Amino acid sequence: MKQFRFGRTNLMVSHSGFGALPIQRVSFEEAAALLRRAYEAGINFFDTANMYSDSEAKIGAALSDVRGNIMIATKTMLAGPERMMKNLENSLKMMKTDYVDLLQLHNPDRVPMPGDEDGAYEMLLQAKRQGKVRFIGVTNHRLRLAKQAVESGHYDSLQFPLSVLSSDADLGLSDLCKRHDIGLIAMKAMSGGLVRSGKIAFAFLSQYDNILPIWGVQRMSELEEFLSCEANPPELNAETRAVIDEDRSALKGAFCRGCGYCLPCPANIPIPTAARLSLLMARSPAKPFLGKEWQAEMDKIDECTACRHCSQNCPYGLDTPKLLKEEKIKYDKALAALA
Ligand code: SF4
Ligand code: SF4
Repeated sequence: MKQFRFGRTNLMVSHSGFGALPIQRVSFEEAAALLRRAYEAGINFFDTANMYSDSEAKIGAALSDVRGNIMIATKTMLAGPERMMKNLENSLKMMKTDYVDLLQLHNPDRVPMPGDEDGAYEMLLQAKRQGKVRFIGVTNHRLRLAKQAVESGHYDSLQFPLSVLSSDADLGLSDLCKRHDIGLIAMKAMSGGLVRSGKIAFAFLSQYDNILPIWGVQRMSELEEFLSCEANPPELNAETRAVIDEDRSALKGAFCRGCGYCLPCPANIPIPTAARLSLLMARSPAKPFLGKEWQAEMDKIDECTACRHCSQNCPYGLDTPKLLKEEKIKYDKALAALA
């Protein structure tokens, strides 16, 4: 698989990376099959987080014998230095390794800087000095914080949601990272199921020679689709560009990206899916969403207490309760049409 230089880290990363969030949902055996297939096909960059339940343990179980040939990126939440160090040590234990190539702050609500009172940045430097971490980075969903992290010069990488549905301002991070020689990782390259084709997602991001997409795969067929793209790179032609233009204009602005930062909801509304159910139903088979189980989930919207926890934590500034109510109306209409 083609490789490229990951900014100032000088790490040579594979053109496609492995996003290890979805392997939480499969068995150790299935996860090992996916991770080994990816490794054997040339993927050398694996991204996980200590918050992804047993994802790190699955990486440790499947890849510890080839640790020297791969790069591991994990994440810790921003907390007190002691807690962050404990998280890191736990990650190392889970992954059966004594270092990670990249430790990222997991979607912090501010970008820690040297000299900050809480000592978070100094903890990262200490972990580097101790040899537990080679490079440090930040993940974020907020463009303002992402730019701040890149421009500060204090971080080696940025991870940000980038896909065919991203705004031009978001995609401008590619140039910004290039100018600052910072590695750029694209999360949510399928926009949580809203992008209709893996081939289109792949071709679109391949236009940017410094973006490392981490494909989140749960099934072998999904992984094989991206590996076949690596073997025979799809091109953006008039037809695929037309699909992209259509999606971009349909999903401009206030749509839910499914990131989940609005949770927990006291009314137990499954917001990341409920707030964009009409979009998911238009882009994937709608039938599973129209059964009793989803009817009960969507009925929870009527129990919204208007606490605003969701809108206050949405990195896209969405009026989530309003969006949910609109989705409920559309959903009820779809049900009525079936009757
Ligand atoms: S405002 Fe409603 S939807 Fe949002 S978190 Fe509160 S109860 Fe849940
Ligand atoms: S409402 Fe906002 S925070 Fe919640 S899943 Fe959607 S985009 Fe993310």
